[in-house]
Amino acid sequence: MRKPFVAGNWKMNTTAASAECLAEALVQKIGHQEKVEVAVCPPFPYLFRVGAKLAGSRIALGAQNCHPDNRGAFTGEVSPMMLVDAGCKWVIVGHSERRHLLGEKDDFIHRKLVGALLANLHVILCVGETLDQRRSNQTEIVVETQLAGSLESISSDQLARVVIAYEPVWAIGTGQNATPDQAEKVHQFIRGWLDGQFGETCATTTRIVYGGSVNSGNAAGLLQQPNVDGALVGGASLNADEFAAIVNIAASVK
Ligand code: PEP
Repeated sequence: MRKPFVAGNWKMNTTAASAECLAEALVQKIGHQEKVEVAVCPPFPYLFRVGAKLAGSRIALGAQNCHPDNRGAFTGEVSPMMLVDAGCKWVIVGHSERRHLLGEKDDFIHRKLVGALLANLHVILCVGETLDQRRSNQTEIVVETQLAGSLESISSDQLARVVIAYEPVWAIGTGQNATPDQAEKVHQFIRGWLDGQFGETCATTTRIVYGGSVNSGNAAGLLQQPNVDGALVGGASLNADEFAAIVNIAASVK
């Protein structure tokens, strides 16, 4: 049985004050939700403040990115060890905004994933195709290449701390979500790939969540799919009522 997982990616939004307010509201609305594992990923400067607000609740703290190394001359970077120090359980790696806007490639994403796992973080690994790639029937090969590149040499034990987020690039921040059927097909493909690479146990226990314009109106249809184990939520996670509604939907449909 896979426990549903819903994470909020706040991206480069909020202020110190609004991040605290949002965290406070989430603790009040869904801080005791037991049926869904919940995490929020605020911007780096607000991790400590948000972490303090989440303390004592069931909502975990996550970060949106990390560097592969734990220390050194990497101006402007934040290490996995620092994230642990700041109270993070989770970190997102391979988000499409970093792949496409900042040029991150699978080998760098793989190094980050390894660094994060070695620091005992749990990782949300994002994969997904662009609209052109989907239109030219390359979705599976793109997703497979990203998975293979990022998860190379990862052990089954380490995979237990990874959630895979299928996030079609064309659905992120566009208001155009994948249909439940489109999402389910790719999630099935990912589970099949995990089966081939890591075996049946890993394939059946690894959570694969969907991301891309999820909101309280479309969440039920997506989450009802057997291979959709939760959601990575961007825009809608900035609204406490919306995010809480998505979490509660996950609790009721899974
Ligand atoms: C995301 O950034 O991971 C995301 C899914 O964004 P949105 O929900 O806004 O499409």
